[in-house]
Amino acid sequence: MDLEVHATAERELGATIPLAMPAPVAPKVLPFEDVRRLVEEYALTLSPTLPEMLPLLDCFGLVVAEDLPADRDFPPFPRATRDGYAARTADVSTPPATLRCIGEIKAGATPEQSAVIVREGQCVEIMTGASVPRGADAVVMVEYAERSGDTITIRRSVSAGENIVAKGSEAKSGDVLVPRGTRVDHTVIAIAAAVGRPEVAVSRRPRVAILATGDEVVDINLRPGPSEIRNSNSYSLAAQVQNAGGEPVILPVARDDAGELALLLRKGLEADLLLITGGVSMGKYDLVEQVLASFDANILVTGAKIQPGKPVVFGEVKSGERTTPLFGLPGNPVSTMVTFQLFAKPLIDALSGAKPQPLAFAQARLQSEFTTRTGLTRFLPAKLGGTHEEPQVEWLRWQGSGDLMAAARANCYIVVPPDREQFAAGESISILLP
Ligand code: AMP
Ligand code: MG
Repeated sequence: MDLEVHATAERELGATIPLAMPAPVAPKVLPFEDVRRLVEEYALTLSPTLPEMLPLLDCFGLVVAEDLPADRDFPPFPRATRDGYAARTADVSTPPATLRCIGEIKAGATPEQSAVIVREGQCVEIMTGASVPRGADAVVMVEYAERSGDTITIRRSVSAGENIVAKGSEAKSGDVLVPRGTRVDHTVIAIAAAVGRPEVAVSRRPRVAILATGDEVVDINLRPGPSEIRNSNSYSLAAQVQNAGGEPVILPVARDDAGELALLLRKGLEADLLLITGGVSMGKYDLVEQVLASFDANILVTGAKIQPGKPVVFGEVKSGERTTPLFGLPGNPVSTMVTFQLFAKPLIDALSGAKPQPLAFAQARLQSEFTTRTGLTRFLPAKLGGTHEEPQVEWLRWQGSGDLMAAARANCYIVVPPDREQFAAGESISILLP
């Protein structure tokens, strides 16, 4: 630990200088579920970012900061759901029945065209999406009718309301269709469009600082030396952050040097959330926790009983009025990805104004047997396939948590509970979807 450099870095930023390194943080290594619960509970204490009005399509992936009410009834008129004949059920109760067609109503017809009234013995030709005329209480599908001039022979009876969606039965004018706090997906976009909202208030993307650490880690536009590697983690994290609705801010790579780490950490703490990658293991140059301690960080977790990602750190740094939550994610690429998904994502949800979304677990049949060791909850790269009747999952061979290529071949993780070591082919097993 190079205290002098640390002190210089701090002085440059005009901060107070911790002259002696504080005592190391007492270990808080918790089971997977406990860490997840802890971050979810922590997330609920966070305030969302300020709202802004954005054009509808720019809202995709963000969280609505207002309730979106129905501006009219849905449907706004009794809607025909089939092409056919609008008729009175009483007239067709004993088929075959003969009716007289008195007109046609197509989708988008004018109020005058739709104003006909169907009386006893009559029907109106109608198209899907048109307004069912008064007097009619069902639509007979065109498949069950024969036409000869204005005479229609109906071959089947219908029940009241058949092939009609009643006015206001999907929603009443004024009903909240999308509550504040909902993440905008294509269905929300459709509703906003349907209620005539070309702009919607959404919470701003929370700024998420990403700080990679390691003497061996070089920027992606530099040629790495023989024992150096390119910084893939900052970019995979940035993609995950963006996908979660955050705005990634990639900081320069910090060398394994306390001073440099402190300087960049300070910068990262200006964001809404700080993600550090690397430097949290037990190695001699894993300095993140020590440097965090020098910031008086409140460290809530120093590890999770999981693989990959065991050394994950979670905490917060208070400075004045401001508190910045942070994660120290282990530097192995798959560990970084998994720990982001398991633990960091709920904080981005909350900062964006949404409730933390539950993890997407499912069950699939194991394609081939495998053995592991007990003690940790494992998230193993796997490939989900099979059919809708029988989803199958195949465990992928990997070289451990640094095996980026295995993660790229996978489309889910097999979730192995800490008390199991042997799994047979054909067994139903839990998987975690992206
Ligand atoms: P660490 O967590 O610092 O002990 O790093 C664990 C492993 O992850 C080492 O093999 C590192 O070289 C690798 N690693 C650390 N940071 C990165 C990064 N930003 N991009 C790719 N690999 C990394
Ligand atoms: Mg390192």
